[in-house]
Amino acid sequence: MNLRPPLPYGRQSISEEDIAAVVEVLRSDWLTQGPAVPAFEEAMAGQCHSRYAVAVSNATSALHLACLALDVGPGDWVWTSPNTFVASANCALYCGAQIDFVDIDPGTLNLCPVQLSAKLAQAQQAGRLPKVLIAVHFAGLSCDMQAIAALSRQYGFRIIEDASHAVGADYQSQPVGICQYSDITVLSFHPVKIITTGEGGMALCNDDRLAARMRLLRSHGITRDAGQFEQQADGPWHYEQQTLGFNYRMTDLQAALGLSQLARLDAFVRRRRELAGRYARQLAHLPLRLQASLPDCDSSFHLMVIRLDLARLTLSRAQVAEGLRQRGIATNVHYKAVHTQPFYQARGFRAGDFPEAERYARETLSLPMYPALTDEAQDRVVKALHEVLA
Ligand SMILES: *Cc1c(COP(=O)(O)O)cnc(C)c1O
Repeated sequence: MNLRPPLPYGRQSISEEDIAAVVEVLRSDWLTQGPAVPAFEEAMAGQCHSRYAVAVSNATSALHLACLALDVGPGDWVWTSPNTFVASANCALYCGAQIDFVDIDPGTLNLCPVQLSAKLAQAQQAGRLPKVLIAVHFAGLSCDMQAIAALSRQYGFRIIEDASHAVGADYQSQPVGICQYSDITVLSFHPVKIITTGEGGMALCNDDRLAARMRLLRSHGITRDAGQFEQQADGPWHYEQQTLGFNYRMTDLQAALGLSQLARLDAFVRRRRELAGRYARQLAHLPLRLQASLPDCDSSFHLMVIRLDLARLTLSRAQVAEGLRQRGIATNVHYKAVHTQPFYQARGFRAGDFPEAERYARETLSLPMYPALTDEAQDRVVKALHEVLA
């Protein structure tokens, strides 16, 4: 009998400093639209080496604004990976565009650049090239951005990086978010992600016009910048709604938490990498595979996914998960391939459309992975897996 609560697959780490930072905002004059949001934006831009940062209510709204800033609309195609959270695809549909997917590489579990290249050549023939590609850095491992950027120059599409998993990750020794190979990078600060603001997201970019466009759309399409006014101001209260925007703002409470968390980003990622290394050593001889690592990529290890070698096991994936649950370990699946969701099936996608993502989705489980996971607790996970798979 195990009386401890099960180890989750992920969880936030909140310190006394984080709590004090939020309480300080509660005692201040601003709960929203005060100084904490621009301070957090500046700090994240500094961390990620991007010129601009636009803080928003969550990564889903950041993806929506990023698509709108790149003029995604009816008649356009957006492509992404089927191995992602549904938000990476839904954002295209919010804009009235069409979505399609590019299958994954079975090693990196990211969108496969070879398949992308082949699909682009076909789409060119059919006159159906995508306007935007959303590259998802699955589990914190960067996509092959250099290869994707080369294809974007050849075929003329724009690139959004969905780096919801990859805050604190590096690619070619530069922080993910630098936007060297993309137009916009989106981050998530949901509690299971690398750092949290409760709910929260951000869009990073190096283009002042894209940043200004996302800022305008974040707050109803309203500007208070006199330099931008189209009408004569009749007093200091004057503001103008110049386009149809949204209320996608982040609050100062959230930004203060984010700023405080950011101080521990390096420590969080260092611990995640340590845990990933320990898992890799201790799971080496089991009938399972881990996500491939690449020489140019330093993952932030948002997730620790295993792929069960079901052909060598007498148990099903559900039975493995149940065996772990009985030993006090909660697992999860990241992800059921997006195109196999009922909503996307109703839009004409079929099982079999993206076989690598579907095969991965049948074999995978996410093990506990978060900075507060102790070596001792991790050893329990490893021992339980050895028992269940024996
Ligand atoms: C979590 C996540 C999102 C959405 O993030 P929210 O901040 O919850 O809106 C988008 N894409 C991916 C890949 C995610 O994991």
